[in-house]
Amino acid sequence: MVANFFRRKPAAPAPAADKTPTPAEAPKPRRRDFNELKPDPDKIGISGSVPFVRLPDPTTLFADRAARLDEAAPGHPLEAYLRFVAEVARAQAAIQAQVALPPPPDGADLALRSEHGMPPLSRHSLEADPGFDESLLALLDAVNLTTAPEASAAARASLRAASREDRLDLALQVFEGALPVDRIAECVFVSAALQVRLAEQAARLDTKALKPVADGVCPCCGGAPVASVVVGWTPADKARYLSCSLCGTYWNHVRIRCTACGSGEGISYYGLDEVSKDVQVETCTTCHSYIKHLHQHRAPNLDPVADDIASYGLDLKIAEEGFRRAGLNLLFVI
Ligand SMILES: [Zn+2]
Ligand SMILES: [Zn+2]
Repeated sequence: MVANFFRRKPAAPAPAADKTPTPAEAPKPRRRDFNELKPDPDKIGISGSVPFVRLPDPTTLFADRAARLDEAAPGHPLEAYLRFVAEVARAQAAIQAQVALPPPPDGADLALRSEHGMPPLSRHSLEADPGFDESLLALLDAVNLTTAPEASAAARASLRAASREDRLDLALQVFEGALPVDRIAECVFVSAALQVRLAEQAARLDTKALKPVADGVCPCCGGAPVASVVVGWTPADKARYLSCSLCGTYWNHVRIRCTACGSGEGISYYGLDEVSKDVQVETCTTCHSYIKHLHQHRAPNLDPVADDIASYGLDLKIAEEGFRRAGLNLLFVI
């Protein structure tokens, strides 16, 4: 890989010395880098009253993701994997709304959880959802594995042969972010079913009742973010959101602040020529983590899950620089 790795400073005020480069400094920043040093209109998004969350729309989420994966796949170094995940997303779209949802938790329970700073969707809602297993089995039936790696067919067979309790146990481990390394191939299908189920449950929540839980924690289900996204929706144009790896909710997060440790110091942005200029990484030198940063306001079809995989070149490069991944992509566990 011929990497032309470049660093962009955040649009925060730069030291005066940075504004007057000496002749010895080369090469000059490209035009788009220079633009980033101007007063940042993107920051306007966080000062106004932007919606705290945008709930997922399960009727379009998975179909759009499949389309984005199809678009990114041809000629990509990870083409086979992108095509596999596109099939998984198509299966998610196919089973979405197929199985009835359980009634939402009662109001007193929700109020108690909110009072204790806990998100409304919990492992208990998963345990209490008899439709999860039905959804997982429907997804295994719906997914087309004709061109998928052999391990995927083996994982499907293994999940079908497993007991209902074992499948639920695996789902609870995924829900809590503790994926068993020896069952990763199975976890992809379990995660896919969980994403469908949680997106449908999150879509029914009352946004007015949702409150921030903690940095980098989904206010609907407690999940970790896949990626950071600068959005282009009205009225949140150019505000920064985090996209949940589990339920697909977007929640507002202050710009130029680490999603893992909350630090506003030592944040930088990197891009790679081989990867779309609309996909960067945000790095934090306080905790040495990074997360993908998608400029969806410039490229509305960017999808956190799909474009995280398609920008794997950035992961490889940033890992060489000593940063660890803070984002979690359940369909691409690395
Ligand atoms: Zn969530
Ligand atoms: Zn950090």
